[in-house]
Amino acid sequence: MAVMEIKTAGDLVLKQHCSEVEKIDKRLRKLLDDMAETMYASEGVGIAAPQVGVPIRAVVIDIDKKKRYDLINPVITYREGSVIDSEGCLSCPNLFGDVERAEKVRVKYTTRFGKEKEIEAEGLLARCIQHEVDHLNGRLFIDIAKNITRGKKS
Ligand code: ZN
Repeated sequence: MAVMEIKTAGDLVLKQHCSEVEKIDKRLRKLLDDMAETMYASEGVGIAAPQVGVPIRAVVIDIDKKKRYDLINPVITYREGSVIDSEGCLSCPNLFGDVERAEKVRVKYTTRFGKEKEIEAEGLLARCIQHEVDHLNGRLFIDIAKNITRGKKS
């Protein structure tokens, strides 16, 4: 595995609508592993492929170092409730802001071995899924956050 360079706000790859993954193979799994390594090295809880310069619909999430989710072509199929909380992003170093997200979501995706799956999530996992899916549509949290502060988590 290898730590990749993280693209930061201003890089055009972060503004793209990413394309669907069509082929799930060893090469894709290697990318997912490298994304995970990059995320862990930066102490993030989620990372989307465009953040390492690859504009495809793939996301890795691990909020508690207990379970890693590799989401390929994720689609949020259900949202419930709304909650405002502080967020940051590996592509926006040292920036934090309040973002309103659904409290609960259901997400449909393909696994790294090509299986269709749907899970329900709430709390931080739900927030993280919504943040990462936004990345796949070229949207950064700073585009929608309020009370953006620099340097420390509010
Ligand atoms: Zn992010």
